[in-house]
Amino acid sequence: MSNARVGVYPGTFDPVTNGHMDIIDRATRIVDQLVIGVAVNAGKGPLFSLDERVEMLEEEVSRLRNGDGSRIRVRPFSNLLMHFVEEVGATIILRGLRAVSDFEYEFQMAGMNRKLYPDVETVFLTPADEYMFISATMVREIARLGGDVSKFVQPGVYDRLCLKINKQQNVTRK
Ligand code: ADP
Repeated sequence: MSNARVGVYPGTFDPVTNGHMDIIDRATRIVDQLVIGVAVNAGKGPLFSLDERVEMLEEEVSRLRNGDGSRIRVRPFSNLLMHFVEEVGATIILRGLRAVSDFEYEFQMAGMNRKLYPDVETVFLTPADEYMFISATMVREIARLGGDVSKFVQPGVYDRLCLKINKQQNVTRK
């Protein structure tokens, strides 16, 4: 498919939340091929390793795919986003926009990326109301403090989150 519209949805996905899944679902209505780019982001000190974050996304995306698997791919990347976008042959970057807090950063990033690669468009999608306030950072924080995050992530992710936090807390207790 030479004329296929390829989009990249980049993020840290530490871990993938229902908000991310909502955006992924919406993104597939806009592009023919969606590449979910999982940023290494070692600087952010992620809770889950890159491999774990990719695996969780793969698992969740396989549930969405419904036999249409070739349209969504999950790929890690450690280089400049725009280089990754070029590598996978994308012309669109998809980002999710939550309440006002995302706007300033996203606006600046879209502007700088446009200066670097004028042919690539950034498209912003808003999630359904119930996902508007979910952030992976808050999910990690709530889970760490023993709160119930089962409303914010899928069951497979929830299980991994509980295991991870238990393991970490056992290590620090020893
Ligand atoms: P977070 O900001 O939750 O740590 P990421 O860095 O993985 O997440 O974000 C990747 C992209 O997904 C960003 O564009 C971010 O704004 C978007 N996003 C994250 N959570 C949501 C949500 N609940 N609704 C809509 N977009 C979201």
